[in-house]
Amino acid sequence: MAESVSDPGGRARAAFCAVPIERSGWQRQKLTDFVVHMASRSLVPVDAIVAKMLDWPTGANRSHDRGARPGHPFASGQKLALINGAGAPARHWVRRVEALTGQARLADLTLLPFADVLPDRRGLLNSRRRWCPACLQDDLTSGRDIYERLIWSLTLVTLCPVHAIALTDTCPTCGYRHGSELYRRSLSGFCARCHQWLGHCDQIAVPYETNGDHLRREQWTGQQLASLLDLPKRVIEGVAAEHFATLLDEGIQVLCDGNMKQFSRLCGRSPSSIAEWRAGKNYPSLPTLLDLSAKFGIPLRCWMTGERFELNPDKGYSESPIGLGPPIKPLSCSKSHMGWVAIEHTLREVVGDAKDKTSWAKLARRVNVDPSQLRRRYPDLARAIVAKARAGVTHTMTARHQARQEYLLHQVQTAIHMLLASGAEPTRRRIEDQLRKAGVAFRWADYPLIRRAWRNLPGHGES
Ligand SMILES: [Zn+2]
Ligand SMILES: [Zn+2]
Repeated sequence: MAESVSDPGGRARAAFCAVPIERSGWQRQKLTDFVVHMASRSLVPVDAIVAKMLDWPTGANRSHDRGARPGHPFASGQKLALINGAGAPARHWVRRVEALTGQARLADLTLLPFADVLPDRRGLLNSRRRWCPACLQDDLTSGRDIYERLIWSLTLVTLCPVHAIALTDTCPTCGYRHGSELYRRSLSGFCARCHQWLGHCDQIAVPYETNGDHLRREQWTGQQLASLLDLPKRVIEGVAAEHFATLLDEGIQVLCDGNMKQFSRLCGRSPSSIAEWRAGKNYPSLPTLLDLSAKFGIPLRCWMTGERFELNPDKGYSESPIGLGPPIKPLSCSKSHMGWVAIEHTLREVVGDAKDKTSWAKLARRVNVDPSQLRRRYPDLARAIVAKARAGVTHTMTARHQARQEYLLHQVQTAIHMLLASGAEPTRRRIEDQLRKAGVAFRWADYPLIRRAWRNLPGHGES
């Protein structure tokens, strides 16, 4: 497999010549489209490039074991949309296509830079090839290179953020629905079956009821995701899942004075999911993040970058044109009543006190400095304090869980004694009835406990 060839002078050069059309910003090209461009510039069919040079990583090892051919990208069941994602297939293709073209940083054409905050979950990327006909038409009429955008692959984006018309997967000429992201004879902007032009701007109807609210929400979602892709490179490098927990802590403090129950009612989520988010045990899905953004009027990107914003639960979701989020409120140290020396002393005291589980957000408020700014200045202290606060939350959760288990066990034993006293056989069903009567709430997850208590009864051993 040749990754580079030599020119007539004997100098090595990359096998294919292609440069991404747009490698940053929300209109960035997608990697699958880059491969299509690479193929068409070299007058080689897409599947020839793919078959010769790009094995599909999933299942490849297994088939090698059997001496068979490595997993083939165009074989049925391969989700080619994952090439543009944030997981192993994307990493594999980036590496291989970079080697073939001599291009660096092709990960920018995938969701890999957002892997920490947009993990490759089911449904994040649409398996269909979708496009905005008006954007394609604009490319054509303005004489630009015609290319397909990464944002069109995100399932939650249903309307073009510029033209506010529905993305489509159906050829206007032959009616073919493009069920896959990549085809053997793909050409940017053209139907994979009849090879006719896909860019038209007439006869495009939004396929939803033109319900104003629903449409506004769809448009807003597209814009939120667009402004995430639109972040400058240095900001994207700083996106991390941990910002979410920090902002959440802050939200609970600011909006509900630290009352988590009240906050959970405000978000319409169970207190246990919020506790898991805070402890960093779980990271919410993209639709959940969007819901929280909409509810509190916070731009989506803030959860991922830790950028400051003004919390406002009454505002609801706001129109945020691409690249223009709500104004950011910087808090500088000059606002603080303490100097840096005193601030550092306070932080070190917290680190030194094993019992102190104060959250980073709370500490930042105490010293009156923006939490992100404070973190940038004292990254090591921040790490130590956040770890301690998380351990504190986990400890509280574990303690609560144990207390509940003990309570339940006691209740089960009481129920058993009552049944025995009344001469009834303490079957599992009777125990449950007894618990219900006593108003003891138990869940599906508690059944092992009930069974254990029941089995411990004389005569009900492991039979
Ligand atoms: Zn468009
Ligand atoms: Zn067609």
